Amino acid sequence: MSEIKINLSEKEMPLAWYNILPDLPEHLPPPLDPRTGKPVEPQVLGAIFPEALLKQEMSAEPWIEIPDEVQQVYSMWRPTPLHRAVRLEKALKTPARIYFKNESVSPPGSHKPNTAVAQAYYNKKEGVKRLCTETGAGQWGSALAFACNLFGLECVVYMVKVSYQQKPYRRILMQTWNATIYPSPSQNTNYGRKLLKENPDNPGSLGIAISEAIEDTVSRKDSKYSLGSVLNHVLLHQTIVGLETKKQLEILGEKPDILIGCVGGGSNFAGFVFPFLSEKIRGKSSVDVIGVEPTACPTMTKGPYRYDFGDTSGMTPLLKMLTLGHDFIPPGIHAGGLRYHGLAPIVSLLINKKIIRAEAVPQTKAFEAAFLFARTEGFLPAPETSHAIRVVIDEAKKCAETDEEKCIVFNFSGHGHFDLAAYDAYLQGKLQDYEYPEEKIRQSLEKLPKL
Ligand SMILES: *Cc1c(COP(=O)(O)O)cnc(C)c1O
Repeated sequence: MSEIKINLSEKEMPLAWYNILPDLPEHLPPPLDPRTGKPVEPQVLGAIFPEALLKQEMSAEPWIEIPDEVQQVYSMWRPTPLHRAVRLEKALKTPARIYFKNESVSPPGSHKPNTAVAQAYYNKKEGVKRLCTETGAGQWGSALAFACNLFGLECVVYMVKVSYQQKPYRRILMQTWNATIYPSPSQNTNYGRKLLKENPDNPGSLGIAISEAIEDTVSRKDSKYSLGSVLNHVLLHQTIVGLETKKQLEILGEKPDILIGCVGGGSNFAGFVFPFLSEKIRGKSSVDVIGVEPTACPTMTKGPYRYDFGDTSGMTPLLKMLTLGHDFIPPGIHAGGLRYHGLAPIVSLLINKKIIRAEAVPQTKAFEAAFLFARTEGFLPAPETSHAIRVVIDEAKKCAETDEEKCIVFNFSGHGHFDLAAYDAYLQGKLQDYEYPEEKIRQSLEKLPKL
């Protein structure tokens, strides 16, 4: 058989998520209250998150059972296939074997519903009626809208205003799944009104939208807040991706030499690689694990490991992470999902401990890779996913030079069907790279909170 696609049966779907916290080489530094500099009191977070998710956020249990109701929804599209990219291998004339885990087959088209469904379920179970969130290009908002609609929850999404104006299709998708959308900054919150008074044309940012969603949440009793990346419980829910991949590779008799994923807040990468890391942390595996980010927002390759806010206005607790500073607004690259100033604390710790490593690629190089992938494998990658594919191709080319038969596996985090305008820009030669925003980052880092 020259072409391989490994499907697991529904019965083979993992029954528990893998929690990496007890396996970490060091304790994860706790979130701090910016007012006291001390670890956050649980009731502070209890105002915005349900109890079950807070418990998962700090759990010492290595395995956490996936509730039946969540498994049932997962089975709408899970287990997802693992493909061998035979045509891409041929085009690259590489002896490497390239596999990709296809998370684009979910209804919203990415890995994001893996956590959205779990979060909607736990909130519903605790009597919450309404979930508030933010979204950049709309991928997270559409995943949460999809999940809330299934569980009968109201979904309120603050969408970064430039995306709301320039990318109507994800907004329409969210509305199709019954969500209410506000372009952010909005007239709906004090913070939004203040920003609009200062500048009616404020284009918005993810950090601003987070601040608005949290303000909306705490101003009402029936609502909780939901985050699509960064936090430990989000990464936990995404481990279903890596657990399935591990089983699929075992069936093939394969062991990965290189694992690759793109990194915004870090959730698809984490979910994909964590199940492979327990051995590596104990020194029993030498798998090379690479997270890929855009050069326009180089959190992993240029950010210091410091305590910082998760949002722009400073409403969230301080998280110890690699960060470009909460004031940093990245250039408007097409991979909207990779434009975040910070990074999941667990992923940050693992980079700091050199268990995983990072690379940064410019968007034109990422799109060049996306075109080769679409022209060989057919599937059209999301701009975010294309960053991972760039490094997959570079690693496979190295194998061709050294004649090494490595096994390279990457996470195909989502499809690019709503990003065709970016593909068009590339075809017309209009796609540009941004210089590394060194001065803006330096200014932003000066404003890191001092402890
Ligand atoms: C949101 C998104 C990402 C980036 O978010 P992570 O939390 O880093 O995974 C990557 N790929 C796709 C397709 C996305 O929608």
